[in-house]
Amino acid sequence: MNTEAQRCLLCKKPKCALQGCPVQTPVPECMILYRQGKLDEAGEMLFRNNPLTAVTSQVCDWKQFCYGHCVLNVKQVPIRWYEVEQEISMAYLFKRRLQRRSTELAGRRIALVGAGPAGIAAAVWLYEAGADVTLLDANERMGGVLRYGIPAFRLDKKYCDVFETMFADAGIPFRGGVEVGRDITLKQLSADYDAVLVGAGAEKPATLHIPGEEKAVQALTFLKAPSACRLGRKVIVVGGGNVAMDACRTAVRQGCETWVYYRKTFENMPANPLEVEEAKADGVRFEVFQAPVEVREDGVVFCDCENVVPEDGGRVVTRIIPGTEHFVACDTLFTAISEKPDFDLLKGSGAVMNEEGWPVVSEAGLVEGLRNVWVAGDFCLGPRTVVEAVASAREAVRNIMEVL
Ligand SMILES: Cc1cc2nc3c(=O)[nH]c(=O)nc-3n(C[C@H](O)[C@H](O)[C@H](O)COP(=O)(O)OP(=O)(O)OC[C@H]3O[C@@H](n4cnc5c(N)ncnc54)[C@H](O)[C@@H]3O)c2cc1C
Repeated sequence: MNTEAQRCLLCKKPKCALQGCPVQTPVPECMILYRQGKLDEAGEMLFRNNPLTAVTSQVCDWKQFCYGHCVLNVKQVPIRWYEVEQEISMAYLFKRRLQRRSTELAGRRIALVGAGPAGIAAAVWLYEAGADVTLLDANERMGGVLRYGIPAFRLDKKYCDVFETMFADAGIPFRGGVEVGRDITLKQLSADYDAVLVGAGAEKPATLHIPGEEKAVQALTFLKAPSACRLGRKVIVVGGGNVAMDACRTAVRQGCETWVYYRKTFENMPANPLEVEEAKADGVRFEVFQAPVEVREDGVVFCDCENVVPEDGGRVVTRIIPGTEHFVACDTLFTAISEKPDFDLLKGSGAVMNEEGWPVVSEAGLVEGLRNVWVAGDFCLGPRTVVEAVASAREAVRNIMEVL
């Protein structure tokens, strides 16, 4: 890694950080500390900027972020900063204890709904600014998608466990198994706390609206507890995003013959392209331009699709070609077409929703209609990435600090 760090040009205006990274990781400053062998100082700088640095350096689509924006991209090989970041932050995280670094929010009580990346990052910043924070999550354990979505072969669960220990050592209460909206209302939380930050993710799966759909299994449900599903021999995953890739790669590891069926082309797949390559390397087979039209007990009816350019020259649309129905046998069908936030927890709270059914958020990040409720992560962005969830939590924490 040292050779890689020596290649860094230490740009004054680093594009990797300023344009390429949603949390503006201080790459040149950390590179200097790394070259000087000051690994703990570099680790602290990274942790303060992004408490999930040990995770994001492992799961980020770096081609889209830092690596893709490195100036060396033009003529040489870009710097693999994420590997340097991994080396620094994966070791440092296990040494780090939470510390009250200021008294700015002393005496303030803040509830965090959701203990995924957004909730965890916000809890670190708010606690270190002096607040008394409480985390609530519908799941028994912390981590959100990091624990209950991304498979262990991609992200070791010790990167979630370490936050449980860190928070317990600091005396931060974690109320697992508590679903806001069912076990306690948001209205109640808003009355009991000075501020509430909702980082409840985007786990509500979209549906295909085709006959027999109830026979399919949601890929997210499978990923939550992969060993609880009996898959049979042949598995088909419908979808082309991160969830589809993790589901097919997990099924292959359970000894299944696995196919991914996607209605558009490879280039259109929203999944990280590296994940698609890894899936192919794992032995997953892909069929593109295929849309399911019916789910049966023993398989799926697909239709071929094609790209059509509208006569007015508008955006290319993918449409089903009538009369191309064909049956494909399988033992298990997973659907992973897309997810969105579940706004049920806002019901009855007085939150103002827009025409599309999303909460209206003010300039200060407050949910309109509510006195002290902010939102962060996938819950306000829709399904995105870990680093973007952390960036949005940072914005929410800044707003909370300003208002409180
Ligand atoms: C399978 C999969 C693979 C992914 N792979 C990658 C990847 O490789 N790289 C990447 O950067 N991103 C990836 N993502 C996206 C990334 O994980 C998310 O963008 C990120 O986790 C969002 O963080 P969050 O804190 O907003 O939400 P989440 O991680 O979803 O956490 C939300 C938490 O809120 C809790 N919650 C929900 N409703 C309630 C309620 N009513 N009451 C109490 N608690 C509630 C949930 O139980 C959950 O723990 C992946 C996503 C999935 C699903």
